[in-house]
Amino acid sequence: LHENLLKIALWSRSNSTSSSLATDNTTNDARFKGHDMLAPFTAGWQTTDVNPLVIDKSEGSYVYDINGKKYLDSLAGLWCTALGGNEPRLVEAATAQLNKLPFYHSFWNRTTKPSLDLAKDLLETFTARKMAKAFFVNSGSEANDTQVKLVWYYNNALGRPNKKKFIARAKSYHGSTLIAASLSGLPALHQKFDLPAPFVLHTDCPHYWRFHLPGCYLYGPVGNNSLDICYKEYILSMLMNISGETEEEFSTRLAKNLEELILKEGPDTIAAFIAEPVMGAGGVIPPPATYFEKIQAVVKKYDILFIADEVICAFGRLGTMYGCDKYGIKPDLVSLAKALSSAYLPIGAVLVSPEVSEVIHSQSNKLGSFSHGFTYSGHPVSCAVAIEALKIYKERNIVEKVANISPRFQDGVKAFADSPIVGEIRGTGLILGTEFTDNKSPNDPFPPEWGIGAYFGAQCEKHGMLVRVAGDNIMMSPPFIISPEEVDELISIYGKALKGTEERVK
Ligand code: PLP
Repeated sequence: LHENLLKIALWSRSNSTSSSLATDNTTNDARFKGHDMLAPFTAGWQTTDVNPLVIDKSEGSYVYDINGKKYLDSLAGLWCTALGGNEPRLVEAATAQLNKLPFYHSFWNRTTKPSLDLAKDLLETFTARKMAKAFFVNSGSEANDTQVKLVWYYNNALGRPNKKKFIARAKSYHGSTLIAASLSGLPALHQKFDLPAPFVLHTDCPHYWRFHLPGCYLYGPVGNNSLDICYKEYILSMLMNISGETEEEFSTRLAKNLEELILKEGPDTIAAFIAEPVMGAGGVIPPPATYFEKIQAVVKKYDILFIADEVICAFGRLGTMYGCDKYGIKPDLVSLAKALSSAYLPIGAVLVSPEVSEVIHSQSNKLGSFSHGFTYSGHPVSCAVAIEALKIYKERNIVEKVANISPRFQDGVKAFADSPIVGEIRGTGLILGTEFTDNKSPNDPFPPEWGIGAYFGAQCEKHGMLVRVAGDNIMMSPPFIISPEEVDELISIYGKALKGTEERVK
């Protein structure tokens, strides 16, 4: 205990020194320094001191910057361009719809054929259990905001006005609107935004490697966390004498913690539980063995709805059509976006079970309307593109293709797991995360100001690949259409960037 406390104190002290490895970012374009756009999730809000990387063109698994430099896009945009950068059928579907009917809404029982067709096609793709209705939105955040409103409406209809709280998980990402950011379990999304909203509770992050050993702490270097939180959770874990659990035991503990939280709050106050099948932006965290089985049993016991946030996992990313298929999840509600249109146009959806939609239907009949929706809910051009994307996934056996190529991707990158600066490499299908730590230990983060993750990211960029960097976590989720040769190129660039980073750390 003493030794670890000392380490935490030293880490804290090193935070105040400036021994940064400083990234040598050669690709970003100085011409656009001090531009006029307020950039999302960017340090120094107006980005006056940062040269942006300006992307100009895309082709298959690659994008090009405005100077013509080519990059392998290992994150598929933002986990979304499943069919790559220039799928002509999607462009044609959009063009045809733009020429025929560029817009009509779906309010007051008026709608368009593409939105009706997409609802039908989409429901057919979801087979983990029967879903009855699809509600269209424009993004993953809107999908999750819609979930909260649907669940509240549902419980009001059932005469359960107190059953309104949501349980989400530490390190989850559910979007950045007020409610979606509240559901998210990343402190950076809450700090200085007066979030999370009071009706949201967070339970454990199911990260086995990080939390199954003594000395584990709740929040690692992901997400600008305060040392106070790490310290508190560290002490707790020591007091609880958590030691070397198996994955199954870890899952049992997490399910027990969830049940205790529900009982403490009162089961009649908890409306829903929301989870990504594989956590994405929190650092790519696949669930430990038996996790969803045990969590679902608890949720069911207390009549709590299960919302599967499939915004990243759906349509093949994990080598199954949905994350729910992979982990035996039988949700009441599902959130979708991103690969629904391969990101060519903004569109998201909420799938609603027959039981929930039945209640909502009868309530809206009583009230005279279901007063929720967006101007662009079911936008006909976005729907036309999504219909075509679903058709392509089916025709080209995309799910099977991902399942076949993912061992090459997973095994190839995981071969670097022995690196002295790598703590863990984890993933499944075409999604993968790397966490840099010292001494191969979840409890030995590098001093954040060394910027190990940022340096690795800059090295990838130098060698022609874009990855997602969050603190010392690196994330990749290439397009579903990535070829074996491109996977090999990805692994080769990863290896070069890792070597460069190791040399810099020495
Ligand atoms: N849910 C998950 C799991 C996500 O990964 C994201 C975005 O990355 C969202 C929701 C929010 O989606 P959007 O950025 O489209 O609002």
